[in-house]
Amino acid sequence: MQLLATLGVAGCWGSYKAYATTSSAKARVLIIGGGAAGLSMAARLCSILETPDITLIDPSGEQFYQPGFTMIAGGIYSPDEVKKPQSACIPSGVKWIKEKVVAIDPVTSKVKASDGNTYVYDFLVLTPGLQMNFDQVEGVSRSTLGVGNAHCMYDYQGAQNTWKALQEFSQKGGAGVFTNTFTKLKCGGAPKKIAMLTDDYCRRNKTRDKISVTYYNASKDLFDTPYYAGRLEEIFKERDLNICPQHRLTGVDTASKKVFFEKAVTLEVDETDEKTGLVTKVKKKETTPVIVDYDFLHFTPPMSAPDFVKEAELGWTEGSLQSGSWVMVDKNTMVHKRYPNIVSLGDVAGLPTSKTSAAIRMQVPIAVNNLVALMENRAPDALYNGYTACPIITEYGKVLMCEFDYDKKPMPTLPLIDGAHEQWVHWLLKKYVLKPMYFHGMLNGLM
Ligand SMILES: Cc1cc2nc3c(=O)[nH]c(=O)nc-3n(C[C@H](O)[C@H](O)[C@H](O)COP(=O)(O)OP(=O)(O)OC[C@H]3O[C@@H](n4cnc5c(N)ncnc54)[C@H](O)[C@@H]3O)c2cc1C
Repeated sequence: MQLLATLGVAGCWGSYKAYATTSSAKARVLIIGGGAAGLSMAARLCSILETPDITLIDPSGEQFYQPGFTMIAGGIYSPDEVKKPQSACIPSGVKWIKEKVVAIDPVTSKVKASDGNTYVYDFLVLTPGLQMNFDQVEGVSRSTLGVGNAHCMYDYQGAQNTWKALQEFSQKGGAGVFTNTFTKLKCGGAPKKIAMLTDDYCRRNKTRDKISVTYYNASKDLFDTPYYAGRLEEIFKERDLNICPQHRLTGVDTASKKVFFEKAVTLEVDETDEKTGLVTKVKKKETTPVIVDYDFLHFTPPMSAPDFVKEAELGWTEGSLQSGSWVMVDKNTMVHKRYPNIVSLGDVAGLPTSKTSAAIRMQVPIAVNNLVALMENRAPDALYNGYTACPIITEYGKVLMCEFDYDKKPMPTLPLIDGAHEQWVHWLLKKYVLKPMYFHGMLNGLM
């Protein structure tokens, strides 16, 4: 039954709208970053272009299925299951420069790599993912994750440390503190998933009465898509998971096991008009410091576009996506607003949707279609609707599959299933289907 369900689910998930099939367009295409987005783009371009001329710059020797990091932290996957050598994932015919990009000059269409070489492109696919700014949380760094029982599964080793610490926490008991961050982040559901997995793990091991779970949320709402938010809040309530809204993490003292937050409070104050003397009530935001003791901490660092993207001034210069320097692309075509020979997608892109590989799977065929159109001197005409999916693991065996578009409208893939509630069939999908789909389907440009 599990096998049948898995195959059925994979069938539905594998479908997408087909676009261009072949093109004789010729141009030098440079891809920066060979992760979920970059490699999928490379594979599809190789199958569409009759004479592909594609160079990929990426320093990493390994390809990680990052959604699996949560599964490692929850003891569901072993660390080896989520990685492959990068050389085995790069499509044949793509030239791989195993270096880091340090600068882009979008005016002259040149890229500088860490080996000192300069690479010229006709078209640039900008997919370096995002940068995790651990240095913006005082008292912690990426290299010291785990010290003072402060963990972060957004890092591969950090995910492994989290699983070890979660089991110890269940035995010893104490205060469990979980945070998200105030910036846009990859898989915004992940910090909630690890809080709920910790709770469920302790319940199953009959140690739940020894621990407390408190989730410090940077914004007001636990989840910003109303269709799913209600059930998520209910689950937190049913399972005695405390929520502290509007708490922004600022630092950790790993020696004394204290977490520092800034709590945003909105006050109503009297304001007097200098000319008329009239007094009116106005809302004013203020922050107050909050210090919390913890025994087990899972925190999330602020995230942004990588520095070299920011320095190249490719980010948004207005609006809510400006602060992270997320790449200024058209939200439907994914073509850069100022440089029409740059296409950007994935985590780095300034798209007003959630940053997930599920979103990338929908972005890739559209971005490829539009890039080929530009190479053929046509206007990009394929449009992305903001589809993203976040499979929120609510317990071992159940997932609340949140799928929605730019308008926060639910977009369920599986028919006849109540998507507003957690389901075992979505757990099967998460545990058994999505990882092979990533390595064998998505990265090969097949789905
Ligand atoms: C803990 C966690 C849980 C997640 N859960 C889910 C989930 O359940 N569902 C889901 O769909 N998504 C999930 N995601 C999000 C998903 O993994 C990302 O959205 C996706 O991997 C982003 O793909 P990308 O190609 O944009 O970036 P990445 O896959 O991060 O790839 C970026 C690539 O660029 C390279 N690079 C970086 N800097 C440079 C440079 N200077 N020069 C050249 N190359 C560079 C890197 O080496 C890397 O290979 C999760 C992520 C994490 C961390």
